[in-house]
Amino acid sequence: MIKRIYADYAATTPLCLPARRAMHDAFDTYGNPSSLHQAGVEARKLVEEARAKVAKAINAEPDEIYFTSGATEANNWATGERGTFASSIEHSSMYSFGPKMDEENSFKCDRFGIVTEDFNGEISEYYENFSVGMVNNEVGTVQNITEWSWCSHNRGRRFHTDATQAVGHIPVDVKELGVDLLSMSAHKFGGPKGVGALFVRRGVDILPMTCGGHQEAGKRAGTENVIGIVGMGAAIEWATNNLDKSAPYLTRLRDILIDGILDIPGAELTGHPTQRSPSIASFVFGGIDGQPLVLALDERGVCASSGSACSEGEVGISHVLKAMGYTEENGRGSLRLSIGWSTTEADVRYIIRAVKESVEELRR
Ligand code: PMP
Repeated sequence: MIKRIYADYAATTPLCLPARRAMHDAFDTYGNPSSLHQAGVEARKLVEEARAKVAKAINAEPDEIYFTSGATEANNWATGERGTFASSIEHSSMYSFGPKMDEENSFKCDRFGIVTEDFNGEISEYYENFSVGMVNNEVGTVQNITEWSWCSHNRGRRFHTDATQAVGHIPVDVKELGVDLLSMSAHKFGGPKGVGALFVRRGVDILPMTCGGHQEAGKRAGTENVIGIVGMGAAIEWATNNLDKSAPYLTRLRDILIDGILDIPGAELTGHPTQRSPSIASFVFGGIDGQPLVLALDERGVCASSGSACSEGEVGISHVLKAMGYTEENGRGSLRLSIGWSTTEADVRYIIRAVKESVEELRR
């Protein structure tokens, strides 16, 4: 049996041990957090403890944290509530409401995926929010969020950032960043799937996401996902408390990965060479397509992903690579490798060999 090496942490992470334990311990706390009796009070306590942990991890106040079903919901909520002018390299959940994103209605980016303020003409008053994701999920580029908050406020706009690939991976301090709204998702930092949060700075007015009961300060009706929220609280505490150790460890492995893969003829790093997530290494390879490469790697036991998708026999490059200036021709062989706490140096060496072999095989 071949060994499996998981190099798709940006898609989702395994459940970390502290989250697993905390969730297990919470299974018997079945009360509804809205109930007045003791069973309800116990459940409410777990939810509020987790809220305090999430708030602490990003230097927010507990009443600024609203639990959601994940980052898709948080992004839909933050951006659908009023017109949002976003960058051209956001996750698809950022473009689900309002006028469709197009060449004109988005902030452009450079070849490295750094979003520039360069846009054509004035931005309509309709757009009350600006939004730029903190870490790009395909190429790992880290944006200058503090500058973006400042520039958005200068133009009388609120600023939202999708920090789904940032929280638990790089320091996130909402006060330092100056953001008004921030999305995150538990399963990207060792927590369970189906739970996330939206940070809403005090004083920022936002319409409810769902209507019904009075949960989440009347902004997000529906009985809370208590076990999921408990797992999220444990995971965010664990991930952010360990950042001092995990970030340098992952940066070193990521750089070994990048150096090894750039030895392959026709390989090019995508995203910023230095201003990038410690966990994400992304490439394009000349002469091959991304999807067969992912499958060839899977045969060698390596789980990775590609931004290129094949539909009806046509290969299309992702909107992210397109916005960065890649073409159908030079962007079709894209590969994202994303690593995490279980990755070892031996894994990275194996991945490099597997990518070399797979690329050679596909070029034959
Ligand atoms: N934003 C980014 C940047 C992401 O990477 C993802 C997950 N791929 C999402 C949003 C959506 O998160 P969720 O799975 O929690 O809905």
